[in-house]
Amino acid sequence: MKAMTVAEIHAKVAQWQIKGFLADDEAASLWQWARELAHLGPCLEIGSYCGKSTIYLAEGCRHAGGVVYALDHHRGSEEHQLGEAYHDHELYDELRKTMDSFPALRQNLALFSLTESVIPIVCTSALAVQHWATPLSLVFVDGGHAPEVAMHDCLEWSKYIVRNGILAVHDIFENPEEGGQGPFLAVEELLRTGGFEWIEKVRSLGILRRL
Ligand code: MG
Repeated sequence: MKAMTVAEIHAKVAQWQIKGFLADDEAASLWQWARELAHLGPCLEIGSYCGKSTIYLAEGCRHAGGVVYALDHHRGSEEHQLGEAYHDHELYDELRKTMDSFPALRQNLALFSLTESVIPIVCTSALAVQHWATPLSLVFVDGGHAPEVAMHDCLEWSKYIVRNGILAVHDIFENPEEGGQGPFLAVEELLRTGGFEWIEKVRSLGILRRL
């Protein structure tokens, strides 16, 4: 299959109404980094939700034989729960009274013919990282946004990023009025403790490189 340009991916994501909270320029940045780093190893993302970011990462690295580990418990973050601000009732399993974004992820990966380029992992980040051993070219953190959760995800998963690999963190808001401080504080801590350099920010997506 011929590689899609990022504009073609944007068009399909819009046409198929792929749900997600990632802006086009942020998505394009993930695609570009995944493309550039594919030769260094697989990517991993925390917080796949319905697979919007997964699609861009996997489209970026698939042509170099890359794969994306797509980690999510698929029960939604605090803000996705029933009655909360980002609740989407189409992702609510009425029978089991729980959020479940996994069917949407599977469907969206199939739409983009990405089932051979994505390895879904359905559990908590804390459980997966306890058993992890694979070096990673890129880690995208977009899971729980509570300070202790964002801190855990950034500090624990960043240990597996290879030299010159990238840690990408979504929802970095320096100003508390714009959003929660969890991801921002986690990135500050990582820069303070060393091992990473700040590269750039694309909207709320922060990019750090392993030294
Ligand atoms: Mg996000």
